[in-house]
Amino acid sequence: MLAESYLENCPLVGLSIAGFDPSGGAGVLADLKTFAAHGIYGEACLTLLTIQSTAGVQKVKASDAGWVAETLACLAQDNAFSVIKIGAIANFKVAQVVTEFLRRNATVPVVLDPVMVSSSGASLLDEDGREFLRAELLTLADWVTPNLVELGLLTRGTVTTSDEVEKCAQLVELTGSKINLLVTGGHLEKPDDYLILPGESSGRWIAGNRVESLATHGTGCTLSSAIAARIAKFPAENPEVTVIEAKRYLEGAMRNAPGIGRGPGPMEHFWRGSL
Ligand code: PLP
Repeated sequence: MLAESYLENCPLVGLSIAGFDPSGGAGVLADLKTFAAHGIYGEACLTLLTIQSTAGVQKVKASDAGWVAETLACLAQDNAFSVIKIGAIANFKVAQVVTEFLRRNATVPVVLDPVMVSSSGASLLDEDGREFLRAELLTLADWVTPNLVELGLLTRGTVTTSDEVEKCAQLVELTGSKINLLVTGGHLEKPDDYLILPGESSGRWIAGNRVESLATHGTGCTLSSAIAARIAKFPAENPEVTVIEAKRYLEGAMRNAPGIGRGPGPMEHFWRGSL
């Protein structure tokens, strides 16, 4: 009886595999707040620790890969995930462990935010890890959400304009056209995002509004977690709608930023309460 009622009320569980930002704006803390704001219970596995404030990253320390493997195994034995979100993964060894874990949990949707460098310039994935992400991890994701810098690193080029973004079809080929590829264009002249669906060689632009805000820290983490949360909640939702709604959530979080810290500050993830 108890077990039955527990299952009835069992919340959807999202897993964030990402790094720790002690100022709370990015990484797992942003992911878990975003999950919570969408009514998703969040669990997390830390791939790296940072010493940072809103003023930037001072130090990065990768988690021990064996510890990551044990954490993931421990959580997976306990309950099933509705979605897995991946952010910064530190290095080659951690990337390998995460990839093996995804292969063992092949039916769970995966949102990969290919975080490689923080906005303040700190490396959050080493060179071998970047190669491995391109060759292996990318092929296991259902969604990939690079910003312009990350798209450049993934395609071994430089991406600064809308035309260059559209050429990212190259990346879709690389992944066997299985993924939803969302290039976040916050740094473009018009802050629109470009979405290519599985099997497409070109995509569509999804309009964004320029928010004049200093609260830009963790925007990538938050958008990709909002997408992950919606996939868990509304698995049949049209991907374009998923992006539009996730962007709406992000925009509200930026507009309602609490104004914390001296640098690019965190957002207000609970601006519309819990959904
Ligand atoms: N994840 C972690 C753990 C980070 O520390 C950071 C940035 O420092 C990011 C992700 C990326 O966030 P942002 O693009 O705002 O720098």
